[in-house]
Amino acid sequence: SVKQVLAENLPRYVRVNTVKTTVEDAVDYLKRDGFSYLGQASRLEDLTLKEKYFVMDMHLPELLVFPPNTDFHDHFLYKAGHIILQDKASCLPAYLLNPPAGAHIIDACAAPGNKTSHLAAIMKNKGKLFAFDLDAKRLSTMATLLLRSGVTCHQLANQDFLKVDPDSPQFKDVEYVLLDPSCSGSGMVCLRDDASSADQEKVKARLAALACFQLRCLNHGLKFPRLKRLVYSTCSIHSQENEGVVAACLQENPGFRLVNLLSQWPERGLEPLTQCLRANPAKTRTHGFFVALLEKHNGAGRKKQ
Ligand code: SAM
Repeated sequence: SVKQVLAENLPRYVRVNTVKTTVEDAVDYLKRDGFSYLGQASRLEDLTLKEKYFVMDMHLPELLVFPPNTDFHDHFLYKAGHIILQDKASCLPAYLLNPPAGAHIIDACAAPGNKTSHLAAIMKNKGKLFAFDLDAKRLSTMATLLLRSGVTCHQLANQDFLKVDPDSPQFKDVEYVLLDPSCSGSGMVCLRDDASSADQEKVKARLAALACFQLRCLNHGLKFPRLKRLVYSTCSIHSQENEGVVAACLQENPGFRLVNLLSQWPERGLEPLTQCLRANPAKTRTHGFFVALLEKHNGAGRKKQ
């Protein structure tokens, strides 16, 4: 299928885990291991690589880019937790939230934890990272991933984020929230389309239910009393789960506004939400993805219920 061809041709992205190593050390190790380093990419075309060549990404400095299907699962750097295999688009939320070392953060729907480990790296493993997920099995995979990544600033809870009390004293210093809720996954080029026309009604109902859940999570995330910034992301290409959810949330929460993201990023949110980012195989050489960053207005209080 078209999707399969696209998936097989996406670059292999490798995020260097700066909790355990540095980009310089990882690059040196990979060079000694037989890969040839071409420096930092400057254009989209530089991410199309052959054989044993690799580059540093032009947007995300801790991201290395290899030819499609380069297999690192048995590689020392992967097994030792020095590198994390994570699509470029899925590195955007933590990078854009950019919490300082020592911050208190909530990762609302966190398993299997790629973005949690990225947040921990950005915070230099200092501060408090409260991570929630409903799915116990995915949480146990996450615990393994975080252990391998050397992350220690986290606290995992097998809990429904919608039932987490924003006014609980343990969250009084939470200033940042990362919200990456369940979505249709329609941006994942490896997933097959569920498009037969008999299923159309089912697809519609599922999207409506997801969008409703996503909006509830987003509204809930904005209720933490000291919140400064919240990043919202999905791996969906449907505006109903993306711009639609964000627009509805902004309408219900006038104390928050969108932050204009990465002016040099080639694909924007649909009008009028062009402050947000979109990603897709053709324009950004990634899976389909959406990111919005909301911030509290200067001096704005929390929403009155
Ligand atoms: N952020 C993760 C990462 O980067 O590895 C991926 C998260 S995945 C898109 C969505 C997660 O939300 C799933 O693991 C699912 O179990 C979890 N989830 C769904 N409903 C939830 C809820 N009400 N509260 C907490 N987690 C929930």
